[in-house]
Amino acid sequence: MRLHDFRGGVHPPGQKHLSAEQAIEALPLPPRLYLPLQQHAGGPALPVVTVGQRVGKGELLAQAQGATSAPLHAPTSGTITALGDFTAPHASGLPLPTITLEVDGADRWVERDLSPDPFRLEPGEVAARVGAAGIVGMGGANFPAAVKLDKARQAQVHTLVINGAECEPYVSCDDRLMRERAADIVDGIAIMLYAVQASHALIAIEDNKPEAIQAMRDACSSDARIAVLSLPSRYPAGSAKQLIQWLTGLETPAGGRGTDTGLLVHNVGTAYATHRALRQGQPLISRIVTVSGGAVAEPRNLEAPIGALVADLLAYCGGVSADCARLLMGGPMMGQPLPGIHVPMIKGTNGILALTAAEVGEMHPPSPCIRCGRCVEACPMGLLPVEMANLARREEWTHLQALGLSDCMACGSCAYVCPSRVPLPQYFAFAHGQLAAQRREERKAEQIRLLMDQRQARFARAEQAKAEAAAQRRAAKKQRAIVAVEDDD
Ligand code: SF4
Ligand code: SF4
Repeated sequence: MRLHDFRGGVHPPGQKHLSAEQAIEALPLPPRLYLPLQQHAGGPALPVVTVGQRVGKGELLAQAQGATSAPLHAPTSGTITALGDFTAPHASGLPLPTITLEVDGADRWVERDLSPDPFRLEPGEVAARVGAAGIVGMGGANFPAAVKLDKARQAQVHTLVINGAECEPYVSCDDRLMRERAADIVDGIAIMLYAVQASHALIAIEDNKPEAIQAMRDACSSDARIAVLSLPSRYPAGSAKQLIQWLTGLETPAGGRGTDTGLLVHNVGTAYATHRALRQGQPLISRIVTVSGGAVAEPRNLEAPIGALVADLLAYCGGVSADCARLLMGGPMMGQPLPGIHVPMIKGTNGILALTAAEVGEMHPPSPCIRCGRCVEACPMGLLPVEMANLARREEWTHLQALGLSDCMACGSCAYVCPSRVPLPQYFAFAHGQLAAQRREERKAEQIRLLMDQRQARFARAEQAKAEAAAQRRAAKKQRAIVAVEDDD
């Protein structure tokens, strides 16, 4: 297959060597797990357990609320000790409604719903079981996987693209998953192909993972519908829109979806989770996480229960040195700065990085823009980052939106190449926050206006009813007066 190209992109040092040769290890069960109800795009899950309740491994803890929500299950057996706020794994450090599970150490499963052969189910039922297992996009997007499968089947997509590019530096969890569990991933891909009713699948892997490419080629060699493609390493090749452009030459329309081009993109981890759910009746209760960075004593790839604290993962990796300058959830390009180590990992967590000052380049503070244009060349979405940052600084939101702010995927390529170290994505994140607040205010003002209109209409109706009643009383009185006069005559 001939590869096309996508514009822009950068080549940051991979730093995969720190963890890529570390085989997946199971993190010993920590004493407590913290499960935020909002771990996915869409509405938060609704708890169905109470404090003091004993639960088994895999038991439903919170059900999905609405079509784009996802349920939560117990990663192990234990007792629910709290339903309340806990620090979110987000730079804001704001609290999120969270279920706390005290682990009993028995790791006792509830009775599992072992599906019949998934290929005997209706395709929609397969997607429904993926949804009931709480599976979300494991590449970090966190969008409920069942919704994507259903929409893709309805859109009659022809190709399922399995994203094994893993272009973020440092992160190697997908690499290890493909090397060690290739047959299970391929089984998950076959199940997804059936759920979508697509004709074939392409597994896209960057060429810096030769062992993973070989393992996946060996695993799918007997299925002519599935092929493995080796992509040149370039960030952000693993972003869905760039992947589609690379494979087809087609650009996803602004504000559009990959399915508009006839392709559906899912992460390799999502295919693996689909295999586990449909073959073993196992909901999404654990995942592989890379713990790495120059400040981590022993970088590793851990299979960890959802809800384990970042502190638990770092402790298992020998702890963090004093020269740690930045703690991130995710990779260095798109990862989320963490407010501390006492926050839980969630379903979309692919990496925990503890980076030194040298690694994050903090020795060189930002300086004024020199108008070199490198950020424009690097932007894979064809945007004008320098102009957008100027508009964000001046709070010219309408112009900023016209320049394509909503197409910015916060990939960080522009900031990476900027010689002045202008923190461009931070301006865009600020702008997104301001515009979201503006939209909330507008919605609130609209609701107030609606309530005022309804109130005025109520008053007008009451006044009208009063006037009609008074008119009726007057008419009745007049009628009585006429009758009285006639009686006198
Ligand atoms: S962060 Fe946004 S503006 Fe900067 S390169 Fe990525 S998509 Fe372009
Ligand atoms: S790369 Fe940096 S210095 Fe160059 S134009 Fe963009 S913001 Fe300015």
